[in-house]
Amino acid sequence: NELRPPGSTAITIAIGNFKGGVSKTTTAATLAQGMSMLGHSVLLIDCDPQGSLTTLMGILPDSEVELNDTVMPLFSGRQPDITYAVRGTYWDGIDLVAAAPVLFGAEFALPARQTQEPGFEFWSVLDYGLDAVREKYDFIIIDTPPALSYTTINALMAANGIIMPLPPNPLDFASSAQFWDLFGDLTNQLITQRGGHKSFAFVDVLPTKVESADQTSLLVKKWMASAYGDKLVSVEIPKTAAANASSAEFGTVYDQVESGSARTFKRATDAYDRLVELIEDQAQMFWRKQ
Ligand code: ADP
Ligand code: MG
Repeated sequence: NELRPPGSTAITIAIGNFKGGVSKTTTAATLAQGMSMLGHSVLLIDCDPQGSLTTLMGILPDSEVELNDTVMPLFSGRQPDITYAVRGTYWDGIDLVAAAPVLFGAEFALPARQTQEPGFEFWSVLDYGLDAVREKYDFIIIDTPPALSYTTINALMAANGIIMPLPPNPLDFASSAQFWDLFGDLTNQLITQRGGHKSFAFVDVLPTKVESADQTSLLVKKWMASAYGDKLVSVEIPKTAAANASSAEFGTVYDQVESGSARTFKRATDAYDRLVELIEDQAQMFWRKQ
């Protein structure tokens, strides 16, 4: 595989959906590991106060993460860029900006800054804050909370590409449309306000937790195809006991492979390998256009 072309900078990918439990965090961690196995350097940013991504990366949000280790000092204006919060992880090639429950404060800190500094773009803080590290990494992957919060808007605004994980079940499908419309409208509005325009290198709808034998899920996949057209990617992540069991051990299917249980995890890892390949291709296109 090819590495990032000289002169290009990181592609930033936000993983988002209003809903919890759709596999956002699992996708963020697995994608990061898959990219690092291809030789890419990755920065993971956990923007969810629940800190699940932080947990998956082997760090305990409750005891090992202080307010000053999270995006909060950047959001509240005490730090000019994200470098202070970057830490290494047990996984070679993956750095992390951790999250902890204190991140709930971001929803107050961000709009408060606009009151103090009129005209302040409180939706672009993360976007500008990442500039200092965009040369260092190939991928910056942001995990977002299950809400269209100020934090999520910051993640979308900082992103070059978006992945919306979506299990093919009727209720998740119905609520995904809201996320879709809102993020499109919002980012466009905010960018016009900034005096520029933003186009995403890709917006991918990724079927996750797919139970292929299930009739309802076959039906909903048809709805997804007509609603999202070519944004619906060709890779499907199956619902597997392996993926779920890995999270019980605070890791992903790739961790299991690394620790030697490869055979039983093949169905899960094959799907993730294909996802990694697909996103790699989209990243290469992005880098070549830079
Ligand atoms: P989110 O971040 O959207 O809330 P998570 O990634 O935390 O979602 O996943 C929610 C739950 O679903 C977790 O228990 C996780 O282990 C499980 N899960 C995620 N992906 C899969 C999968 N492909 N197969 C089975 N279980 C999965
Ligand atoms: Mg999550």
